[in-house]
Amino acid sequence: MQKLHVTNGKSGFGWFGKKIFETLPVGIVAFDRNLKITDANPHAAKLIDLTDKIDKSLQRGTDGSASASQDWSQQLESVILTGKARTFESVRYTSNGKTKLLRIACAALKKTGTGKNCGGTIIIEDITEQVNTRCQLANAERLATVGKLASRVAHELNNPMDGILRYINLALRTIEKQDLEKPKEYLTHCREGLVRMVQIVSELLEFSRNTYSPFEHVRIEQIVEDSIKTMDTKGEASKVKILRNYASDIPEIRSGNLFQVFCNLTKNALDAMPNGGELNISTRMSAKDTAAVEFRDTGVGFDAEEREVIFEPFFTTKDRGKGTGLGLAICKDIVERYGGKITADMAPKGGSIFTVYLPVRSENT
Ligand code: ADP
Repeated sequence: MQKLHVTNGKSGFGWFGKKIFETLPVGIVAFDRNLKITDANPHAAKLIDLTDKIDKSLQRGTDGSASASQDWSQQLESVILTGKARTFESVRYTSNGKTKLLRIACAALKKTGTGKNCGGTIIIEDITEQVNTRCQLANAERLATVGKLASRVAHELNNPMDGILRYINLALRTIEKQDLEKPKEYLTHCREGLVRMVQIVSELLEFSRNTYSPFEHVRIEQIVEDSIKTMDTKGEASKVKILRNYASDIPEIRSGNLFQVFCNLTKNALDAMPNGGELNISTRMSAKDTAAVEFRDTGVGFDAEEREVIFEPFFTTKDRGKGTGLGLAICKDIVERYGGKITADMAPKGGSIFTVYLPVRSENT
């Protein structure tokens, strides 16, 4: 493919801005209404493989990626046509076998005098480092949450471990005395203790798993639907009807660990309706910058005393082996890290209402 000669701002940007144009640490490309490149600074050539046309230059590095910005001709033409600027975040661009993450901002260029759009310009920024650092930070945040729970976990594991040790000692002593009924009983206690420890550990491991990349922007209902899917068989078995009522005006949201939150709220609702019932999941804007996701069930509910401690780690009313009491504590932690909050209310006609309030901003930060 023909390579474009970088013109260093001679034509589209004029003599005055030439120096700035040449030294800017971002790529700038100007193009006409047929998407033919008219100008590009040296940094642009470092970030993307420039050819004669801007759509082709972008397409060749982003082909095969799942990005919504794949059809570059369409996207750029619409910017020129509508005059509406657009920014594409975290575009995966591969060149010479190396993949970078780029932020690409496009705007229309107006012809002086006529005010008509005669082409466009794009500014390309390499944000690979920035995104990696943010991912590392999100991971560190997750680990910090686990760390906070660790001392409670150690305390909670202490009891079953102590029990196991005592019963093993008793079993050994009884075996020495040849009385074989008792060791069976002691080993049963050991197994119970172990089951509890395994549960606590697997719940913590579950927390470190993530379905979405932490900074992906997605529609809230997509995360909710994905969490329902993981619970599908449980819902069917308990004959729970899941109803949805999603508002259409909620901006996309940074996915973070919301998947875990919604999985846990769905699981708890299903657990609260062992003989069937209804789980109503709805979304709405509760204030200008706050989205609310509500899980309303017709299950066993909880009383005022339980409500006081419902978000405390290790509070559970579930049978031995069925609950650890970690789920809601983790949900609360995740939601608060978002700058949001989670509430638990008793439904007027019985059942529970858990509501997650999340800050949303139109620019999706
Ligand atoms: P776990 O599910 O392991 O018990 P959670 O922290 O998720 O831990 O929940 C703590 C307790 O809160 C549950 O044991 C239950 O008593 C109560 N709870 C949670 N969700 C509901 C619900 N939808 N309806 C009634 N009670 C609930």
